[in-house]
Formats: sequence, C-alpha cells, structure tokens
Amino acid sequence: MRRTFLMAAATLVAAAPVPAQAPAAAPKRVLILAGHLIDGTSDKARDNQAILIEGDSIVAVGPRAEVESRAGGAERIDLGTMTVLPGLIDNHTHILLQGDITAQDYDDQLLKESIPYRTIRATMAVRTALENGFTALRDLETEGAMYADVDVKRAINRGVIPGPRMFVSTRALAPTGMYPLLGYSWELRMPQGVQITDGPEDLRKAVREQVGNGADWIKFYADRRYFIAPDGRLRSWVNYTDAEMQAIVQEAHRLGKKVAAHAIGWDGIDAALRAGVNSIEHGDGLTPDLVDRMKSQQVYWCPTIYVGAYVAEGRGGIWPRMVEIEKANFGEAVKRGLLPFIAYGTDAGGYAWSENQAKEFAYMVRYGMTPMQAITSATATGARLLDQPRLGRIMPGKLADIVAVRGDPLSDITELERVGFVMKGGTVYKGVSGER
Ligand SMILES: [Zn+2]
Repeated sequence: MRRTFLMAAATLVAAAPVPAQAPAAAPKRVLILAGHLIDGTSDKARDNQAILIEGDSIVAVGPRAEVESRAGGAERIDLGTMTVLPGLIDNHTHILLQGDITAQDYDDQLLKESIPYRTIRATMAVRTALENGFTALRDLETEGAMYADVDVKRAINRGVIPGPRMFVSTRALAPTGMYPLLGYSWELRMPQGVQITDGPEDLRKAVREQVGNGADWIKFYADRRYFIAPDGRLRSWVNYTDAEMQAIVQEAHRLGKKVAAHAIGWDGIDAALRAGVNSIEHGDGLTPDLVDRMKSQQVYWCPTIYVGAYVAEGRGGIWPRMVEIEKANFGEAVKRGLLPFIAYGTDAGGYAWSENQAKEFAYMVRYGMTPMQAITSATATGARLLDQPRLGRIMPGKLADIVAVRGDPLSDITELERVGFVMKGGTVYKGVSGER
C-alpha cells in the first residue's frame, strides 16, 4: 500500500511545473511488453504484443519486435507472462457508502458518521477501486454526503490521493417521502439520502445547483415499491410525474449533462425512457418491449447484478425473487441485441468496499455473456456511456489506463478479481513484484 502511494507521489513530483524559461522536459516513455493483449476492440486476444507510452498517452501498439524497435531508451515494464487489458470502468458506484444490506446499515451511516468521516472512508474506497484495476468510476450519488464526491475527485485529479478518474453525480433527486431516512418521528428533521425535490421548476433549480457544484451526471430515482404482477412482470410505483421527469432531463441536457435513472420495475423503466434518460440503473424488470425501446433510444443499462444477489438474503421479501427475474431478463436482453448498451456497473458501496467489485464479471458470464463481452462492457462500452473516447481501449491516442492479470480471463473470468498491475495515465499504481 505505502509503496504504491509513494510511487504515485514520486511521479507527481517529477511532473511538477518547471520555470517558464527552462526547456520543456520530454515526456517520459514507457514500453510495456504484453504476453497477451485484450485491446477493448478486437474480439480475440493477441500474443506477444507491446505498448509504447509517452507521458499519459499510448503512442503505439503492435507486435513486440515492431514496437520495441521504436522504443529507444524507454523504461521497460515486462508483463510478458500476463494478459494486459484496458483499465476497467465501473459505471455505477457509491464511494461514500460502506454497504447497506439493511436499512439500519444505511441509517447508521447518515446518523452517526459525519460527512468528513465518510469522506475519509471514501478516500480508501477509491484507492481500493484503483488497486482492483478500476481506473474510472461513474459515482452515482453521495447518499447524503452532499458534494463530497466532487472533493474526492478534485483530490485525485490534483494528486493528493490515488484513485480512478471520477465522473460524479453529487446528490441525486427523489420526491418528498420517497427516499430514506424514513420512518422516524415527524417531530425530527432527519438527514436525507438525496436532494428531496418536487415540481418541475424546483427540479430545474436543483439540477442547476448540482451542475453548479460540480455534477458531471444527474441522477434521479424513478421508482420504488417493487412487486411481481400476476403476469410475472416485476413492476413498481413511479416516483415522479412525466412533467417532473422531463424537467430533470431537459434541464440536465440543456446544461450539457446526461441523466442516469434508478429504475428497477417495468413501470419505472418505462417512465424513465419516456422522459429521455441516458442510462437505466439496475433495470431488473426489463422486458423485451423495453429492451427494444432502449436500443432505439440508445439508452445504456447498468445491471448491477452482484449487489442484488449480495443483499437479497439480508433484505428478504421480494429481493431473492428479483435476483431470479434479473437473471432471466439479462440473458434475454443479451440475446435481443442490447449488448452494445450494457455497461458494467456494480453499485459497489451498496456492498462493503472489502468485496471486490470485479465479482460482477462472473455473474455477467453466468447470466449469458461471453467473457470477452463482459470485458467489453467494462472497457469500450463503459467509455462510450461516459462519452470518453480516450478511455476503454488500448490503441494509439488513448490514455494509458492499463491493467494486467496473471491468468487468462477469457477462460476464467474470475482472473479479473486478481489484477496484478495497474497504470493510470502512464503512472504505475500497482506493480508486479520483480518487474520494477
Ligand atoms: Zn446505486
């Protein structure tokens, strides 16, 4: 841990601004030798490849001998026995949450932990994510910790702490009475897990406030109270009127931001799609008609499978059946061609950060994806959801966000739970012993 942090700090010192008169130092060049390379685009791994990096960017990728001849005196990192792949992207996390299997777990964090304390814990969550190979996160709301995600992102970008590239949504939105903390005496003014807002005009103002304070995305809760209808569909109660949801989406889009909707049941997904959101979160109740609408509207889906399975037993009630329903709907959505829009998203923080968020991969494969399709969901597809064309692939011109595993993730996807090498923007955050 400490060694990793010091390496990151040392690189930052080396990259500190130089006086205006001094000649600009040439960017550092690094050659990575890759035993096997999954580049995020090709459908097969390629053997004996090499990647040449200058500063924070990839400048060449190809057969080892070819790239080596251009490398000159570049520093060499030998991953010749490993499988190298793009840095992983998790498009649904909560760095300010430390697991909420039960309502009590959640309430305790909001009632007994200050925002500074929760933020300190978030700095460990982002470090854990990075060391597990996740070089970019879309963090989908702070659960009552206000704009602390913006501060964590700033600290990472300034090199104060190690962590992934952060795309943050700040406070999220839900209407009065529809989001915890709930169930306390009406005499008490309780903290709220979101920015409680009603009515189109106030929602527009809340979106402006969140964007003004640093939100990269806007998130709202489209539904709650999930139930299974007699026809077997997973349905739900919708939180907002159409006019309210449209106000959120229109205002966010007007300000150049995209919108993520928590929507679990058929009704919530239906309403969110009518409003024109950009991503559906959880989406357990996806049916073929909704899949077709998502494809034609180019809406992404973060299925967050593992968290559902992880909390099902503790939550009881309908949750164990929801796991089964999502399993069937996931397989159906893959077959029906939603693949280009299924982005890896885990809801990490909904379970403790001691659980590796890479466990989602094994579920995706078990539910109907090939290992390569699951990897693509966390690389190229994840980058497309984020509108980040320089992420998610190992190609010239992309940012040097690169990870490696010892085994072959195409034959055992759980290899991604044991990432042994992490580079972000050309800086090594986790090294292979003996390689440096
Ligand atoms: Zn979530």
